[in-house]
Amino acid sequence: METKIYKIEDCAACFRQIREAAKIIKTGGLVAFPTETVYGLGANACDPNASKKIYEAKGRPSDNPLIVHIAEFEDMYQIAEDVPAKAKLLSNAFWPGPLTIIVKKGKAVPYETTGGLDTVAVRMPAHKTALALIRESGCLIAAPSANKSGRPSPTLAAHVKEDLNGRIPLILDGGEVGIGIESTIVDLTEETPMILRPGYITADMLAEKIGTVWTDPAILTKDTSARPKAPGMKYRHYAPKADLIVIEGKKKNVIEKINALTREKQSQGRKVGVIGTDETIGYYQGDRVLTVGSGKDVDHIARNLYRILREFDEMETDVIYSESFRSFGIGQAVMNRLLKAAGHQVLMAKDNQGDTKIV
Ligand code: AMP
Ligand code: MG
Repeated sequence: METKIYKIEDCAACFRQIREAAKIIKTGGLVAFPTETVYGLGANACDPNASKKIYEAKGRPSDNPLIVHIAEFEDMYQIAEDVPAKAKLLSNAFWPGPLTIIVKKGKAVPYETTGGLDTVAVRMPAHKTALALIRESGCLIAAPSANKSGRPSPTLAAHVKEDLNGRIPLILDGGEVGIGIESTIVDLTEETPMILRPGYITADMLAEKIGTVWTDPAILTKDTSARPKAPGMKYRHYAPKADLIVIEGKKKNVIEKINALTREKQSQGRKVGVIGTDETIGYYQGDRVLTVGSGKDVDHIARNLYRILREFDEMETDVIYSESFRSFGIGQAVMNRLLKAAGHQVLMAKDNQGDTKIV
């Protein structure tokens, strides 16, 4: 199958292309499209065969449910068995936006879309092209990230092409996404709402609107026997080909530690990659040193992380050492994805390993 790519800069000017994409969705096909978080791979959420095509194209395990994307809050009443008051409060505050809400599944959504679960994940994306596609198709659009299963989520149309070329008929290219990591997922089906995946919308932001919010303990631990409530969180997604190790500690110590490890590996004939920031990359001696952005701008780091991980997959490196990044706000979600990519391999850099000066 040939994969077409349409550049969409302005939805009104690109109405013909959106209409063609909507027709593919309406007739049971797949379209990759930009959202503000990452690119999604969309299909009609109410058509079991269309949902199955998503799993096939991505090579996604069939027990990993899809997020249903909507353009109006009223669509919730089709999807959910009942719409909790907290869903309305969260929607007023954060939709359209990077928040996915889990509710009890209504009859309109088949089990093929929910990976066999009686609950369903719903989100209203804040991206004009995504909203135009949903509205024009007249469908609820099931869409996981538009990567091959096991690869980092796509933040550019070129990433979608890398993974899915020849497997889907159309990619809508909206340029680089704004956020760069997947939506926060909050489960409203339990007594106390629970975050199943951290993202741009933090626990504090949710708690301000709906009171106490817990975070699924299974997503914070490296214990692989803990069962996360979001089935997708148990898979080691985002894993680069090289071994990835995160180094924690004071910046000066981290640089010294990474350089000491680099020398050791290089003396064994191994190629070393380093993930640093604009402020620190000059201090590293790895074979490939990439910056993930300014250490002062965690939003920028979020936007760059998956692209950098993909770039390392193209390079010949045996091991990658990464700095760790601030773990508040979206930094928490960045660290969650980085630690997952690293299979939770973390080393602590201690004092007295040398005296690098950072200016
Ligand atoms: P992706 O769209 O690729 O970001 O993946 C969707 C994520 O949402 C996966 O981690 C799923 O496990 C999770 N998810 C979707 N539906 C549900 C649900 N009903 N209950 C819990 N997690 C869900
Ligand atoms: Mg995904």
